[in-house]
Amino acid sequence: MNQEMNTGWGLIGASTVARQFMIDAIRAQEGHFVQAVMSSNQERAEQFARDCDIRAAYSTLEQILADPFVKVVYISTTNELHREQAIAAAAAGKHVLCEKPLSLTIEQAVEMAKACKAAGVVMATNHHLRNAATHRKIKEMIDSGAIGRPLFARVFHAVFLPPNLQGWRIDKPQAGGGVILDITVHDVDTLRFTLNSEIQEVVALSQSASMAKEGLEDGVMAAIRFENGVLAQIHDAFTVKHGGHGIEYHGDAGSIFGRNVMSQQPVGEVLLRNADGEQQIVIEHEGLYVRGVRKFCDALAGKGQPAATAEDGIKALAGAIAVLEASKTGVRQSVPTFKV
Ligand code: NDP
Repeated sequence: MNQEMNTGWGLIGASTVARQFMIDAIRAQEGHFVQAVMSSNQERAEQFARDCDIRAAYSTLEQILADPFVKVVYISTTNELHREQAIAAAAAGKHVLCEKPLSLTIEQAVEMAKACKAAGVVMATNHHLRNAATHRKIKEMIDSGAIGRPLFARVFHAVFLPPNLQGWRIDKPQAGGGVILDITVHDVDTLRFTLNSEIQEVVALSQSASMAKEGLEDGVMAAIRFENGVLAQIHDAFTVKHGGHGIEYHGDAGSIFGRNVMSQQPVGEVLLRNADGEQQIVIEHEGLYVRGVRKFCDALAGKGQPAATAEDGIKALAGAIAVLEASKTGVRQSVPTFKV
């Protein structure tokens, strides 16, 4: 590959999600390659680079941002680091694909988006679920009136956090641990996307049953009212081994059932039930991260918007923070407005 002509990516964070999904998703794009990885630990960076066949390994932000082949950064460090890394990347003229939650507060996330806008670089949020063929089909069905007027949604996203990920998510509040910033933020993005509506208010209760420590939560149930009147029920957890996952939408003329669809893998099925009976919807699955990166690369080339923009990331974070606040205070929360 001609490195001069192609677009090099720098991975900020030697993370599991980069290793499992994102490197392959970047390499699936024509003209894009992974140039470098950065870890806070040089040895880990070098090991990661060897394992994943990446040319350069760095241990500081300055080094990776100074690499002339790095034109784009993918940030997948722990959540408290995203802000500083995104702002520095923008200042160095690099495009930014950042993991969710964008940051720990709405203000910080807005700051990141403003820095990217001011630097004239593209910023996007790596919400994978809206790239799933299942959720895209569901959105299309709701938009075309398949269930009539949407009234309710129910999200079943109570899963088991695998042992290799039982680190900062369950014991590091300062890193943005807890199930709400980890999973609820994805649910909020998915609901905003499929319902084409914004959150109006939230009530929630959370649980710290067995895994989470240091005041973090490992389970949550929330009810959300959207501006279009839809009530959505959310159930997320790190502690449920055999629950399965899915999403439902109920309207006045039909119901949609998405089964096994809250996944990182291109799997799951969608059923429509209405006055004509039950119908399985044909889904043409595609890698969620591959599609997300493709939309981001298209945006770099001036073709459209990323699948989830910086603004989408801020709005999903704002919804998750409303759930967090409601669960902590017992007080019904509304979502503040913001301007990028
Ligand atoms: P990991 O715990 O795998 O990685 C986070 C950080 O932990 C890394 O940047 C790394 O630090 C450090 N780390 C990783 N492995 C080791 C190790 N073996 N020993 C010591 N330190 C280690 O996190 P995830 O990949 O699960 O999540 C990273 C980010 O991506 C988060 O923001 C998360 O919310 C998001 N995410 C998003 C997903 C999506 O579908 N959009 C899915 C999963 C996560 P260093 O870089 O300094 O080496």
